[in-house]
Parts: sequence; structure tokens; C-alpha cells
Amino acid sequence: MRLTWSYFLVTTTIVSVVQSSKLYCLTHRGSVHDLQTCSTSKTRSISAASLSSNAATNIPNGNKVIFDLNCQADSITCEGVSTTLAKAADIITSVFQFESPLIINASFINFCQEYKDCDDNGVSSIGQAYPTISYIMVDTTDNITRMYPQPLLKQFTDLKVKPNWATYDINAQFNTEVNWYFTNNPDPISSKETDFLTNVVHEMIHGLGFVTSWSDDLYKVLAPLFDQDLDRFITPSLLASTAFEQILVGYDRPQPFWGFVEFPLDKFLNFKVESTNVTFPFTTITKQLNYFMNSNALFRSVIDLANTWYGSGAYNHAVDIYSKSVTELDVLAIIQGEPVIALETSVKPYSTGSSLCHVDQEKYVNSAEYLMVYTAKRGIGITQLNSIYPHGPIGPKLRKLMAGLGYKINSENPSRPVLNYWNPPNGLVKTPSNPDPSFTVNLNGPARSPTTSPSAFVTTHTASSTPTTFNLPHIINFVFLLPLLLLFL
Ligand SMILES: [Zn+2]
Repeated sequence: MRLTWSYFLVTTTIVSVVQSSKLYCLTHRGSVHDLQTCSTSKTRSISAASLSSNAATNIPNGNKVIFDLNCQADSITCEGVSTTLAKAADIITSVFQFESPLIINASFINFCQEYKDCDDNGVSSIGQAYPTISYIMVDTTDNITRMYPQPLLKQFTDLKVKPNWATYDINAQFNTEVNWYFTNNPDPISSKETDFLTNVVHEMIHGLGFVTSWSDDLYKVLAPLFDQDLDRFITPSLLASTAFEQILVGYDRPQPFWGFVEFPLDKFLNFKVESTNVTFPFTTITKQLNYFMNSNALFRSVIDLANTWYGSGAYNHAVDIYSKSVTELDVLAIIQGEPVIALETSVKPYSTGSSLCHVDQEKYVNSAEYLMVYTAKRGIGITQLNSIYPHGPIGPKLRKLMAGLGYKINSENPSRPVLNYWNPPNGLVKTPSNPDPSFTVNLNGPARSPTTSPSAFVTTHTASSTPTTFNLPHIINFVFLLPLLLLFL
């Protein structure tokens, strides 16, 4: 059976306004659509969760990382899950010095029964994790709007106004149908087992903010509208898709465009220009893309958006950056002028969930930075690798990167730019200051109504595995706001 490591980052809803109408956030939901405000947590309480699970465990761990576990398996298995989660918390808190405790909503469940995510021709998911909620912030150092996952924003202790934090910082689920190896197993891991500890720590790093908003989702939405091939491109997330307006859920509905929004990690992405080896930040492209319609337009439909995009300079920029993102070793994370690590750019075509949000597989799989490659091998785990890499699974480059995001890490100084809460600029379409703007119409282009159903809006990416190494490709479904479709995921 081939297992697919499914990392769902599902951005669904926005957005609520709390605290004097100055705080915007978006909730990330794995499989359930649930409109929710920032100030009111609808997640179950920890105590309730504990009562409902047969091996619920609150792991003290200096009270800095707490796994609230819902384990739906036999008691022996759940003991293995609990023990391994405790070990993962030990590893994480031995490196990260969190300013406040983080609570992880962890489930060990049967994906086939819970999500209808069943073994399909030998492909099944092994886990998924995502930040529970992000806050839309403006980084005052470059004036770029970024989505700050709650666990990261919690480190910014000098925020003058703090959100009413959601109960959980990270949601993580793991599939009971995998042949897991747990840390309380007295035998060494076998070639048929998958190390649960590696998976948990890896997913926690994603949940802490090792995520990119660059994806080909917009390309996949627009491509069916073009008879001729639309060149592949990537963009950061559409800000409007994280906001009040539910866009890209149908081809004939009005589409507000508010520009694009990054994750904090995206600030460090740089691409090489081959001829000179000079690097440029991805953020310079984000700025170029945000010139499109001045990030303030209401298109009559996706057709009008597609035609305008096709004829724009923004499209060309997005095509150019795509080529960098599928060229090996062409994208580096650079922090304060120092190249830190090469990101995954070998996957072709670009795979949201594999590309850019992992480190380069070939360069790092046999190094101290092995943790965040996008594939994982059976039959080996952290215990064995610790004998080779005694500093543990969180390597020195990864530590530098996470410190760059804002985490306090042993021997690394956290970088915490001054952040302001994002507010809609005056006159932004479909906001209170401009609730009924005129449509932008553009039928002077090649885009035509598609013959495919709106299900084309859902993107699923499955990378292939090789027979020799048993890869576990990651998948991110970075789904634009899709409340109806999500109901059926
Ligand atoms: Zn991953």
C-alpha cells in the first residue's frame, strides 16, 4: 500500500471583527466548514475532549506544549500515541522557548470512517495538520500583509492589542490505518513501520508556521476557461478569498479582488537569477502582483477576472516566478542577508503542499535538516537518526528559520517585526466604505465559460512515490473559500 502524507492546509472562512473592529482573522478548517468569529471559540473544551476520548492525555511538558488527544483506537495503541506525543512535545520544547503555552488539538482517527478518505488504489493519507487560525497583519518593515498563524503571533508579546485567542493553536489528525511505530515500542522500528514521532514533529513545524501561501490554485481555477494553454503560474493567497466575500466558488458570481496575502515564511523566500546568481525576494513579486487592478476591483465574474489577468503584467510575473519554483535549488530562504536553506523546487509541476514549504529533498534528506523534506522513509525514525545527528530532528538551519519567523530558540535571536492589524483601506470594494461598487467587465480576451463543473475549484495534488524509497508525499489542499464543497470533503 502506498501512503500519501496528506497535509491539508485548508483556508476556509474569514473573518470576523472583534475589539473595536480592528482585528481580522481567518479560521483554518480541515474538513468541516464552520463559520466562526475570532472572539468566540466553537471548538470543544479541553475537558470535554478528554472525557470523550479513551486515552486522552494532557502532557504537561513545562506546560508549554499540550496535546489534547482524542484517540479512537485500542488502549495499547492509544498508549503508544500518548507516549509519542509526549516525546514530540519534549523535543519541541527543548528547542523552542514559547512565550505562552500552545495547545494542540490532536486526533488519532480512522480517516476512511471520519473523512471518507479511504485507501484509493494504494494511496491513503497518513496525517494532516494546520494552524487553527491566522490573523491578518501588516508587517511594518515592508508594508506587506501576511497571515500570522496563532502559535506564531502568540510569540509577539509586545502587541498592544491581543486577540482573544482561539482555544487551540494547531489542529492535527493522524490516520489509525497506518502501520505506525510508537516510541514505547521496545523493539526497533521495522522496514514496514512508519515512525509516528517523525510525523508529529514534522507536522508541528508546519503548524508553527513553516507554510507558504504561494500556490497554483488560481491557475487551476482559471485554466479551464482557456482553450489554449494558459501558462502555469503561482500566486500567494487571494486576500479577498480569506475575507467576507466568498469568491471563486462559481464561475458566474462577482469576484472581488483585494490583492494577495503572504504567510510570514514567504518573506524569506528568494529566487535566483541564473545568469547572475543574484537573488530577489518573492515579496517583490507579491508587490508587483498587488499592482493588478490596484488590489481593488469587483469583477462581474471569473471570466472578466480571467481576461483581465491574462492581459496583465501581473500574469507574466506570476509565470516567471512559477519557473523558479520548479527549478532545483533556485529558491532559498534568506534571513537578514544570510542564505539559510534551499527550499523544495524539484517537484514538477508545482505541487501545493510539497513545493516551497519543505526543504530540498536531495540536498537535505541525508543531513541534519532531514526533518522537513517532503518525503519520509519507512523503517527509520528519530531514534536511529539521533545517533547520526545528535542535535535531534530540528536542525540548525531549521532553527535559524523558525527564529527568523519570531520564535525564541536556544542560541538564536528571534526576529519580530512590528506588526499592525490589517484593516480594509478606505474604498475597498465590498466593504462598508464601498459596499456597492461598479463591476469590472472584460470580455475582450480568450477566456470562455468552462464546460467543467465548479468542482474544478477544488485542487488535489498527489505526488507519486518511488518503489524503492517509499516516499510519503505531502499534500496541501489550500482551498479557496469553499464552504459548500468543503462539506463534502
Ligand atoms: Zn510536510
